[in-house]
Amino acid sequence: MRPITTANILAIGTELLTPYRTDTNSLYLTARLNELGIDVIGKRAVGDDVRAIEAALASALQDADIVITSGGLGPTADDLTRDAVAAALDRPLAEDPQIVEQLRERFAKRAQPMPEINRRQAMVPRGALVLPNRRGSAPGLMIEHGDHVVVLLPGPPRELEPMFETAVRERLAARSSGRRLRRRVIKIAGQPESTVDHIAAPIYQPLAQRPVPISTTILASPGQVELHLSARGADMAVLDAELEDAVERLQTALGDSVFSTDGRAIEVVVGEALRMRGLTLALAESCTGGLVAGRLTDVPGSSAYIVGGVVAYANDVKRDLLGVPADLLEAHGAVSEPVAAAMARGVRRVLRSDLGVAVTGIAGPDGGTAEKPVGTVCFSVSGPGEQVTTMTRVVPGDRQLIRQWSVMVALDLVRRALR
Ligand code: AMP
Ligand code: MG
Repeated sequence: MRPITTANILAIGTELLTPYRTDTNSLYLTARLNELGIDVIGKRAVGDDVRAIEAALASALQDADIVITSGGLGPTADDLTRDAVAAALDRPLAEDPQIVEQLRERFAKRAQPMPEINRRQAMVPRGALVLPNRRGSAPGLMIEHGDHVVVLLPGPPRELEPMFETAVRERLAARSSGRRLRRRVIKIAGQPESTVDHIAAPIYQPLAQRPVPISTTILASPGQVELHLSARGADMAVLDAELEDAVERLQTALGDSVFSTDGRAIEVVVGEALRMRGLTLALAESCTGGLVAGRLTDVPGSSAYIVGGVVAYANDVKRDLLGVPADLLEAHGAVSEPVAAAMARGVRRVLRSDLGVAVTGIAGPDGGTAEKPVGTVCFSVSGPGEQVTTMTRVVPGDRQLIRQWSVMVALDLVRRALR
């Protein structure tokens, strides 16, 4: 049989065509398919309409080896993926007694009778393989259709992801070309995209012409730039060695603004540095309103090194809670390096941590002056020991961007203070 090299993804659900829900399943599926050397050549969101799903599937099958759908496998009237697939592939649906039994047991465990509508979930197109769902009632389905494969997965990511891992991945690996895709991500803080590219391009451009070509894309988000390197081939060890070599060369050129080469986020890197050195951290945040603390405590186990934080928005809080001297606030203003330093020192003292971090700035849209325009943000890290780092940045963008940028700058400042 021909190997599977191309995929189309259909995200099914009328909610995905509103401004309120994002299709994230296709991102997850794309990552997994790429690892198997399968390229996603197209994706679409389709509403809960049997004709629309049928037409989308027929068209998706024309140009891709595999079509993966997510959603529409529930028991209610708007869950139409099974019906549409049966019609598009001309495979009549029949009730699978084993699924009915499993559904009954599922409800029995909760001391409930199975609602009659759930029987819909036991309807299986002829010739389909049933994929068990350990986290929900909707089983998935996999259909070998001529040279093509159609996989139907449930919508909730917490059901779709384990189902892909346990029931789909191996089966697709067996039918893939044997060519694999390997990736590395270099993450850089505190450098604009153009600077990173200026340094990195002379290194990564020739990599695309090598016997094992490495392709590079550059991705910027507030305060952070990522270089994504990928290589394809049959031998994973060779790909990994080539990528490692490329990463090392880029890291050497980019220097200490590189904070990770293995996908770790900056809050994870900072957390590990604190843990390794047995140090604790407290936060005093004004314009970021707790976002820095939020990022750091996103990481499981962060209670080992994060003591707490103070959202010191009003000057009174900076003064009364953090002990920032009133005359300092008076003389320099709340957005100033002396105040940032006093906030960092203050929170460190009040919360008895090894390091204190402070952010105070003008996120706008109001409050800017000629001297301190919107986007002016002062940062300070107090500790470890006697060490103090204080700086001012004028960060670009609107309120949201300024706040996101400030979080990144603050986290990078801590990372640098811990080296
Ligand atoms: P369904 O299987 O269609 O009943 O989907 C159930 C739930 O899964 C939806 O209400 C969404 O919250 C979620 N969901 C469905 N499709 C997607 C998708 N493409 N990406 C992320 N979440 C989804
Ligand atoms: Mg749905």
